[in-house]
Amino acid sequence: MYWMYALIILSLLALYYFQDGSQSKETDWSDFEKAALAGDFDKIAVMASNGTAEGILTQQGAKNQKFDMSPTFSGEKKLITTIPSSDKIQDKIDAWNSQLAAAGKPEIKVVYEKSSDLMKFFWYFGPLILIVGFMLYMSRRMSSGAGGGGIFNVGKSKAMVFDKDNGTNVTFEDVAGLSEAKVEIEEIVEFLKNPQRYTDLGAKIPKGALLVGPPGTGKTLLAKAVAGEASVPFLSMSGSDFVEMFVGVGAARVRDLFKQAKEKAPCIVFIDEIDAVGRARGRNPNMGSNDERENTLNQMLTEMDGFQSNNGVICLAATNRADMLDKALLRPGRFDRQIYVDLPELSDREAIFKVHLRNIKVNSKLDVEQLARQTQGFSGADIANVCNEAALIAARNNKKSVDWDDFMAAIDRIVGGLEKKSRIITDDEKKAIATHEAGHATVTWMIQYGNPLVKVTIVPRGRALGAAWYAPEERQIIPTQALLDTMCGLLAGRAAEEVFLGQIGTGASDDLEKCTKIARSLVLVYGMSDKLPNLNYNDSSGQDMGFTRPYSEETAQIIDDEIKRIINEQYERAKSILKEYARQHNEIRDQLIEHEVIYHDDVERILGPRKWVSRTDEIIALNKKQEEEEKRAKALGIGTDADKLPEPQAVANDDDDDDTPPPFAPRK
Ligand code: ATP
Repeated sequence: MYWMYALIILSLLALYYFQDGSQSKETDWSDFEKAALAGDFDKIAVMASNGTAEGILTQQGAKNQKFDMSPTFSGEKKLITTIPSSDKIQDKIDAWNSQLAAAGKPEIKVVYEKSSDLMKFFWYFGPLILIVGFMLYMSRRMSSGAGGGGIFNVGKSKAMVFDKDNGTNVTFEDVAGLSEAKVEIEEIVEFLKNPQRYTDLGAKIPKGALLVGPPGTGKTLLAKAVAGEASVPFLSMSGSDFVEMFVGVGAARVRDLFKQAKEKAPCIVFIDEIDAVGRARGRNPNMGSNDERENTLNQMLTEMDGFQSNNGVICLAATNRADMLDKALLRPGRFDRQIYVDLPELSDREAIFKVHLRNIKVNSKLDVEQLARQTQGFSGADIANVCNEAALIAARNNKKSVDWDDFMAAIDRIVGGLEKKSRIITDDEKKAIATHEAGHATVTWMIQYGNPLVKVTIVPRGRALGAAWYAPEERQIIPTQALLDTMCGLLAGRAAEEVFLGQIGTGASDDLEKCTKIARSLVLVYGMSDKLPNLNYNDSSGQDMGFTRPYSEETAQIIDDEIKRIINEQYERAKSILKEYARQHNEIRDQLIEHEVIYHDDVERILGPRKWVSRTDEIIALNKKQEEEEKRAKALGIGTDADKLPEPQAVANDDDDDDTPPPFAPRK
């Protein structure tokens, strides 16, 4: 469309220049002479070089010569003629002037103009030159974003190439946690460095590996580390670099990328955000699907496992959405391995903190493990952000080192948004908020699967007026009771308002939304409701367009009833807990109104120690026990259990369906 705009603007400009209001007529010499003797000319411009003369007409002269005198044509009006002889033109004009003088009319002025050819050339061809120049400029700019070097290079891939001399300075050391992913990736580097070790045994080198995981979990970082550590060339490109508005360019770039890779083999090709090109192809290509993207994908499929061999080229790719990728792309032979890069667990988060704290001056008493516990659900990128934010907060407060409070402030800021100190809150509102938050704190403390409380605050942050902060438990499997308990905890704010204030407010809308979502998934996804057990109406493949419901009207009614029943039960449960612990709730509320923030220990003092050990504590205790055992074994000079295992036999008939473990290869 920009081309069209440019052309329209240029045509308008050209029109403007051509139509400056001047008019001219070509005439023969005798008529020109007649006009001169009639006194119609004010001036005659002689162009000796091309043998023409232009007679510029007076106002009356223009009328006599029947020119259009309307205001649109207010410019010069002239008669143009070819002169019989340029030597004698002056004599001719002199003769006219003497005749005019005799008749009492004004004389005609004469000017001689040179190089009018050039002027004319520009006059006629200037706009065309401008248009062509503009087009060239545009095409250069467009193609400089796509490989550089003019429009003819638009089909060249713009992969960044890293090799021995020009590597990234990221190493596997910089990637914390992700131990399984690292092992797989390191193995790929090893394949390229030492292929014979594998091929001698008849193994084929894998063609590709796909890194899948939520945003910010370190997929690109892992690939960068490969570029830094592998001593083979590393070609990196983003999926969106293939996409261009010209048809066929994407496919051409894929061809070029693999051509470059084959020339440099053994090497690694990395395509970040591959979903930009690798999305599943539509069934009907004319129905709104992007044909150009499909061409690009088809080319990629052929390059990765087509007729031509690309030995020694390993393809790495990263995406957040493996479910959206085309099935053909994911099959063995193209991406043989899918490496899942998940959100980091407790120990991984601790390791990531340690990596990012390397360059930060932290207080020696900072408990990194505790920090990791406070940041459940954070990705590596979030943790990097927390570290940076904490350092900024400490610098703002002129501290010499970054301490625990700065990290807590950074986490609060990242999770809850900016503190709104300027928001004015009346005493009644404060009491309502404190009642609501104390309700959450009390109920969550008293139920089995309530997350461990960190602090409760009524300081407004972001859109929230107050918050109860928890360190959520990391569970691999969530029992029904845990979902119900979570709902009960969420509803406790609203329940407290009803029980203690006698009226409810809008503050609970976010809690209600979360709670309803959990109830819906409990019924529709996990098949945990009493009336619809073991049924899942969810389509995890994402293929369902949602035009039809996979259940009948009656079932829809039952689903609604079940959701309502579950929520009501939990609401009543929250109310009864609050009534039972009304005194404690009110104490927490009063403390909150007084101090604005209260911590885990304050709540423990009021409500007593929790009856249930948190899962995170259990894991930490288990890890510690294991570490101590290893230390003790080392001190005594004996190996760990793993060392004591007998060597597995050459052929182990380890059938997974068989429950009895084989005698010679005990499972760990
Ligand atoms: P996206 O899918 O959004 O592209 P990604 O998984 O590719 O995300 P990265 O770009 O690799 O994420 O990570 C972003 C930043 O997060 C990194 O530059 C790094 O600072 C930090 N980070 C993420 N994971 C780790 C990790 N395991 N160890 C150290 N730093 C990490």
